[in-house]
Amino acid sequence: MRTLKRYAQTWALDRPFVIARGASTSIDVIRVEIHQDGVVGHGESKPTPRYGHSIETVLAEIDEVAAEIERGIDRDTLLERLPAGPARNALDCALWSLECALEGSTSTARLGPPIGQEIVTAHTISIATPEEMAEAAREELAQGARLLKIKLNNEQVIERVRAVREAAPDVRIIIDANEAWSPDYVEAWCEALAQLDVEMIEQPLPAGEDAVLAGFRHPVPLCADESCHTREDIAVLSDRYEMINIKLDKSGGLTEALAMVDTAREQGMAIMVGCMLGTSMAMRAALPVAARAAIVDLDGPIWLAEDDRPALDYSHGWVRETRGH
Ligand SMILES: [Mg+2]
Repeated sequence: MRTLKRYAQTWALDRPFVIARGASTSIDVIRVEIHQDGVVGHGESKPTPRYGHSIETVLAEIDEVAAEIERGIDRDTLLERLPAGPARNALDCALWSLECALEGSTSTARLGPPIGQEIVTAHTISIATPEEMAEAAREELAQGARLLKIKLNNEQVIERVRAVREAAPDVRIIIDANEAWSPDYVEAWCEALAQLDVEMIEQPLPAGEDAVLAGFRHPVPLCADESCHTREDIAVLSDRYEMINIKLDKSGGLTEALAMVDTAREQGMAIMVGCMLGTSMAMRAALPVAARAAIVDLDGPIWLAEDDRPALDYSHGWVRETRGH
């Protein structure tokens, strides 16, 4: 007999998070618990307005399948019952967590990475003036960051990146434009950013307007984020991008995310794993994807005033699980 609990939670940020689409000072997440035989499976997801989701729509989607979850459906059946998105993500992660807990194990023990493995994660620099972004970069370096992800819109693109590069001459830098650029200047900006030793650019153009990327040679590898949610999206993207950013809130859970890893590899594309803002519970669920990724961006908890327990270790620019869960 299974019991399903689901509820919303609010977590305060310790500083504003600013990207091309807007700013936030706190986040609302959905928590799912599935109780069975004295153990509990946990899942967390975050609704994103960009994809038409809110706390209310996600809870309503979970309600639709609540009775089936309690009757005992498995993860593969869930894939058919709900579309990709945060509702399925929270349920799929809770089912993984429950399945492993019933065996006395964890999803990372089963799928990797091993406890204690040091995985470099990006630290995000949100949008501000070039001087403020340079200062934020210096602060992240002081915290041990080895890889910076610079959020950009379509203003002061080169000035902002140059300011961060001058403040952090030796650090690895990736960019996230969150769909804010236009085809008119994407090529010139890619050239200029290559000169600043930028390693990768995430989603320069709006999803649905990125076909033009197949037509030009970009000196910096491109990564599809907003354009890529599930396996079905990957084939058409393979001549536009070199990499896909897998996030459990887009894929609708770890089950689909692991299938995406296989499909991307078949297409010769590299893997990035990313996150919406969230606690260590949500990041831990994505660690098996991180174990298979070239670039890891799971710094959500670094933005929180207080993280959930047990928290992942975010020292030295790594994300690391220090004990089983
Ligand atoms: Mg992104």
